[in-house]
Amino acid sequence: MKNIIIIFTGGTISMKTDKKSNSAVPSLCGEDILKLIPGMDSIANIDCMDFGIIPGPHMTPEKMMELSKIISDKSKDYDGIVVTHGTDSLEETAYLIDLTYNNLKPVVFVGSMRNSSELGWDGPLNIINAVTTSISEDAKNRGVLVVMNNEIHCAAQVTKTNTSSLDTFKSLDFGPIGFVDNNKVYFYFNYTRHEHIPTKKIQSNVDLIKCACGMDHRLLKFCVDSGTNGIVIEGMGRGNIPPKMLSGVDYALSKNIPVILVSRCISGKVSDNYGYEGAGKDLTKRGVILGDNLPGQKARIKLMVTLGLTDDLSEIKKIFEENYY
Ligand code: ASP
Repeated sequence: MKNIIIIFTGGTISMKTDKKSNSAVPSLCGEDILKLIPGMDSIANIDCMDFGIIPGPHMTPEKMMELSKIISDKSKDYDGIVVTHGTDSLEETAYLIDLTYNNLKPVVFVGSMRNSSELGWDGPLNIINAVTTSISEDAKNRGVLVVMNNEIHCAAQVTKTNTSSLDTFKSLDFGPIGFVDNNKVYFYFNYTRHEHIPTKKIQSNVDLIKCACGMDHRLLKFCVDSGTNGIVIEGMGRGNIPPKMLSGVDYALSKNIPVILVSRCISGKVSDNYGYEGAGKDLTKRGVILGDNLPGQKARIKLMVTLGLTDDLSEIKKIFEENYY
């Protein structure tokens, strides 16, 4: 049998409903959760590590990086690694690990949408499916995977799309790359754009601004004046912003602060195919860097990791626009 470690970080999968407040709160450590899932020891030899009982929104980029180091370390001793995580920020942590982990052994992220006091708690099946995926030979060298609701997704593409549905995790541009059925893992696609950014450091002082009609330069100026190291703009459509924001963009670029453009659309990549004031062509001419099909929260993670490697704007442009690594 293969040797797997499950690293428990928290999230709804580790929560119970508190009777007094009638709301879900962190309660269960790894051992507590495993006791509620019979039959795990017939799938693999399982070790368990408690990283924390952190709700998704309490996760920080620094903690993600600490987790990345632990995962790289543990990959020397185990055949695969499963990480439980709050679903609110699961995609951000999984993507940061995906960019910084450099090993063929499977790393599989998992969570649950219902807590352990709720009818139909999805934690046990999701964990069994994640462990089943982590022991699969076919799961090797695919980057970090996310297993939820029987589907297998690439960390680079997956996003949480619904606040409460069990079927919340979607890879909106290309779909899941496989699924788990009756304790068997099936991969249907190969994700070939896997990126590795060779750094053990991050620069977490990066801001994210979402565009809406009529917005101006003020938020951008505030970010720059309060010492930001990078800005991600979620523009509109193909990657266009309201013209009154432009002076803020220029202000950031004049201080050599990288500005990455992605879209507030839920899928599709940005481009410089529009030429009016504030559109993609105008922005790239000024020095804005295109962020492909990443949602804002993931482009921000990528910029933090990239800034751990370099603050040279032409290098950053290569990493974002040419999948340099
Ligand atoms: N709010 C929860 C969290 O991210 C949601 C979840 O885990 O599903 O911790």
